[in-house]
Amino acid sequence: MAVDPLIELRDVNKYYGELHVLQDIDLTVGKGEVVVVIGPSGSGKSTLCRTINRLETIESGSIRLDGQPLPEEGKALAQLRAEVGMVFQSFNLFAHKTVLQNVSLAQVKVRKRKKDEADKRSRELLDRVGLAAHADKFPAQMSGGQQQRVAIARALAMDPKALLFDEPTSALDPEMINEVLEVMQQLARDGMTMVVVTHEMGFARTAADRVVFMADGKIVEDRAPEEFFTHPESERARDFLSKIL
Ligand code: ADP
Ligand code: MG
Repeated sequence: MAVDPLIELRDVNKYYGELHVLQDIDLTVGKGEVVVVIGPSGSGKSTLCRTINRLETIESGSIRLDGQPLPEEGKALAQLRAEVGMVFQSFNLFAHKTVLQNVSLAQVKVRKRKKDEADKRSRELLDRVGLAAHADKFPAQMSGGQQQRVAIARALAMDPKALLFDEPTSALDPEMINEVLEVMQQLARDGMTMVVVTHEMGFARTAADRVVFMADGKIVEDRAPEEFFTHPESERARDFLSKIL
């Protein structure tokens, strides 16, 4: 597509011991693009997300963020992690801190904002995810869907250039999935660059610009959602879709 690339992976290879978990991965995510990653369990989707954020090292290839190669370590790496927010299946909120504190903490520590300024931004973001009235609660007082929306607000609080979601609704009771997907849909409409690992095919169809199908550490298909869902090219994708749709 004719937009500036934000995330660029070229010929990325990663091993866990003998396991070649990412094989010659080429992936470009443009600014404002939403890429949904699907594929069988164990195909390397989570590893791909973690690799983009340098939570994992790679054996070969290159990863660029907004034109810059990913730094190896140190301050530059911490800065980069702040540029790419990550939302996990388990919400990873601090249990002994309030919702407001959860969203403000890294703003003060990493973005060096004053506490007042951070709290103000946190309240704006909690409002954006529909939780303005819950700022003083503790995570355990909230439902899973609400906690995941707090986690999204916390990621947004760093003003990231991109957000990575790794199965953000997989740990939720069914009735809570939509409230989280709606927040994500809104982010997509607002132009956030997103990489989303999910089994929610409705989300993929409506929010994704592209669907990336992974199997055995490889990107097997990378296409527009409608094309992918109606005419999957590979046997692997046809087999996968027949099981989940
Ligand atoms: P997915 O998210 O698609 O289910 P993962 O990226 O979690 O796949 O895992 C891909 C493969 O790598 C799996 O075979 C998994 O067992 C293996 N794996 C994941 N993390 C590690 C690790 N830290 N050490 C060794 N093997 C791992
Ligand atoms: Mg995974």
